[in-house]
Amino acid sequence: MTAPLHKARPAGAGRALPDTQQGMRRRNLARVMHTVSAAGTLSRAAVASRIGLTRAAVSTLVEELIRTGLLEELGPERPGRVGRPGSALAVSGRGPAGIGAEVGVDHLAVCAVDLRGEVRSTATRHGTNRGRAVQPVVDELRELVRGVVAEAERAGLWPAGLAVAVPGLVARDARTVVRAPNLDWRDTDLTGLLDVPFPLSVGNEANFGALAELWLGEGTPRDFLHVSAEIGIGAAVVVDGGLLHGTRGFAGELGHVPVRPDGPECPCGSRGCLEQYAGEEAVLRAAGLGPGADRVGLLAERAAAGDADVRRALRDAGTALGVALTGAVNLLDPESVVLGGALAALAPWLLPSLESELDRRTAGPACPVAVSRLGSEGPLLGAAHSVVRAVLDDPGVVAERGEPRMGPGSSL
Ligand SMILES: [Zn+2]
Repeated sequence: MTAPLHKARPAGAGRALPDTQQGMRRRNLARVMHTVSAAGTLSRAAVASRIGLTRAAVSTLVEELIRTGLLEELGPERPGRVGRPGSALAVSGRGPAGIGAEVGVDHLAVCAVDLRGEVRSTATRHGTNRGRAVQPVVDELRELVRGVVAEAERAGLWPAGLAVAVPGLVARDARTVVRAPNLDWRDTDLTGLLDVPFPLSVGNEANFGALAELWLGEGTPRDFLHVSAEIGIGAAVVVDGGLLHGTRGFAGELGHVPVRPDGPECPCGSRGCLEQYAGEEAVLRAAGLGPGADRVGLLAERAAAGDADVRRALRDAGTALGVALTGAVNLLDPESVVLGGALAALAPWLLPSLESELDRRTAGPACPVAVSRLGSEGPLLGAAHSVVRAVLDDPGVVAERGEPRMGPGSSL
């Protein structure tokens, strides 16, 4: 196991590189990668003019990025133009890939995303992980990772790192799940259990969902609250384009904000938490439905068909969400609130009461509420893209480290 590619910040939020000649070279490699990535295709001359370096300096950097498989040459650009044509550069669709994984309460999922942001391989396994020991779950996850990596390798990719999204509190070391109540995991260091021959980081699923919204959503602001739900309710606070982690990495536990101080007991030890009113199980109970497969789909189907009990349960959940979010909005003054995960699918029936509470209770003008288009894929995509972003942010590290060896002796 090598050192994590991106330690406490799986966000790829831009690390400070050392202020040395070597640091300068790595920063310039990153500028070239980001410039080409943002443009799609670009000539060396265009890169040079955009980042303000000489053509010769850019050529040296580009050669290194081509040699290490991060950029590729597409051939002459606009051959009809007068003068010597520049060769178009693009981010490579081969080479390093980000592997994302998600441990859900009811599923496991893995995907590989290339440096262009395209999903190249996915695998999912449905079935409850609640009440299971950690190791068998991790073993199954490793099997899925192995299959996804094998498929990515057949397409000429190699894993630059693995980021795992979990529904729980993750320590700032980005490897230890301190507490995941719905999985019953406690103080679990996944790097030891999920031994893979490339860098691994672990993060809270709500945080990865928010990052996916930040990086892949349309017109997402740089200051927003992201609220999502699976069994629990997760939230993440994005400030100036980066995650607010909190002292221990636990910021964003909106699900345990009290809505009614004397309400029902919550597994966290408190009473009347938001999760007791707007969590999936609470809503199902209020709607008179039992647990089962695709519960969110069932709620949406019944609500769309006009089921009065389901609509009332969702309206009440929206009210509870509005009350809890008012506190967060008054405190943080975000540009918007984004509903993701299961909440996005139920938004038509949650939003009226949620927005009315926010309107009524917010001190300033009401904060707009948007609905994520990423749906339940958000955390998985956010995890994979966090690895991709880390490569774009510091391509020099990947170039120096090179491909992990995965021969017969490999632990994967
Ligand atoms: Zn609670």
